[in-house]
Amino acid sequence: MKDQFGWQFDNSYVRLPEVFFANALPEEAPEPELIAFNHELAQSLGLDVQALENVEGLEMLAGNRMPEGAEPIAQAYTGHQFGNFTMLGDGRAILLGEHLTPDGRRVDIQLKGSGPTPFSRGGDGRAGLGPMLREFIMSEAMHGLGIPTTRSLAVVTTGSPVFREETLEGAVLTRVASSHIRVGTFQYAAARQVVEDLCTLADYTIERHYPDLALVTDKYVALLESVMERQAYLIAKWQLNGFIHGVMNTDNMAISGETIDYGPCAFMDTYDPATVFSSIDRQARYAYGNQPGIAEWNLARFAETLLPLFNDDKEKAVDIAQQSLAKFGKLFHDHWLAGMRGKLGLFDAEELDVKLVKDLLQLMKVNESDYTNTFRALTLGQLDELPMSNTPEFMEWKSRWDARLTRQGKSMDDVLAFMKKNNPNIIPRNHRVEEALDAAVKGDMTVMEKLLDVLKDPYAYTLEQKSFIAPADPEIPYNTYCG
Ligand code: AMP
Ligand code: MG
Ligand code: MG
Repeated sequence: MKDQFGWQFDNSYVRLPEVFFANALPEEAPEPELIAFNHELAQSLGLDVQALENVEGLEMLAGNRMPEGAEPIAQAYTGHQFGNFTMLGDGRAILLGEHLTPDGRRVDIQLKGSGPTPFSRGGDGRAGLGPMLREFIMSEAMHGLGIPTTRSLAVVTTGSPVFREETLEGAVLTRVASSHIRVGTFQYAAARQVVEDLCTLADYTIERHYPDLALVTDKYVALLESVMERQAYLIAKWQLNGFIHGVMNTDNMAISGETIDYGPCAFMDTYDPATVFSSIDRQARYAYGNQPGIAEWNLARFAETLLPLFNDDKEKAVDIAQQSLAKFGKLFHDHWLAGMRGKLGLFDAEELDVKLVKDLLQLMKVNESDYTNTFRALTLGQLDELPMSNTPEFMEWKSRWDARLTRQGKSMDDVLAFMKKNNPNIIPRNHRVEEALDAAVKGDMTVMEKLLDVLKDPYAYTLEQKSFIAPADPEIPYNTYCG
């Protein structure tokens, strides 16, 4: 049964043992105002756009009014934050429940920034308008790029201030996710040492995200390997697009394989594997080039939680986990290489492709080339735009690439079309995102709307996109902060 907004809640997570969550209610938002609304997403979720945009809808998106069938909770989890194990849980997010979409999907509907919960650990449970709009832009840009991600339905201001280094307008983001089950959720279950609860969580996860595994022998090993496969695919997508998550703690790694938790993330401009934007990542743990290794580390933490389900004999269980984990490197590499072949217009595979790719990346590093725009220039044949275009090293590389393209025997039209599909014309450049947020917090949403519009299809190579391709002056350092 749908309610007046089109919600159709059917909540399964709250049927798990009580230790996995705490009941929680959003705090009152005194003066809610709708700032951003994702019409397309609302429609694809089967929601009534008009009803959501009117006063009652606004009250709902602000957390003042529960939709029919909602069972609001905060989820419990732990996590390794920058390598340190900590008890966490939703400190500033409340899960309203799971909505069933017209196309048969089950999605979490979560209000982020809606006030304290039993897991707030002294925090205020709130979020500022800028950071919530930032998540809105970044997650929708990721979706446009074809990278698995949570989505953003709406941002409303609450009418009550949030105190950080400066005073911000309080805001609530409605986040839509396949689920919010994290590696940290499993770590929480394992740390409690109640195997029955752990087993319940694993079975629940299989049913929700990997239903094909339900009848497989060794289904928990299969669960580990399936999560590894989705993460390998996801992290390869991040690398291929120059995305730096910034805070790859185990509580920010979703079992569904979606990108989750847009805090200090940013896209890299100049290609350099050591790139870090986050002001809190002082040791550069989550630098661009470290992301595949960190994913593997996080997956090892996930595997550890499952040991009691692999085998009663601890040594045997560890053996099983290690055999599975050893496959991650190849899983990642295969996805990455397939993606890189796409970026270079290669339809088939040759042994020396890895070298071709790595040599290009090395040239980009030495010449401080813009990551996205290098592939864009290669796609459009605008080689003059590359800082290295006249170097003998690049000309040598180019002749190898040309010869490789000739050998595969595809028409240049086919190659160009293939490259356009794999090389975005634009990404959400940091200075463009900041410009949009600056205007938005001052009440002008037009800059952000325009940015969202051109980011919808970054592979379209439209004229409107052209003014968004330039990187900022590399001499101006860019830092991101957690909101
Ligand atoms: P994050 O770094 O965003 O993944 O958050 C780490 C943990 O801190 C999570 O448990 C969050 O729920 C919690 N947290 C972040 N901000 C706040 C806040 N303002 N109030 C309470 N808890 C928070
Ligand atoms: Mg988090
Ligand atoms: Mg966060």
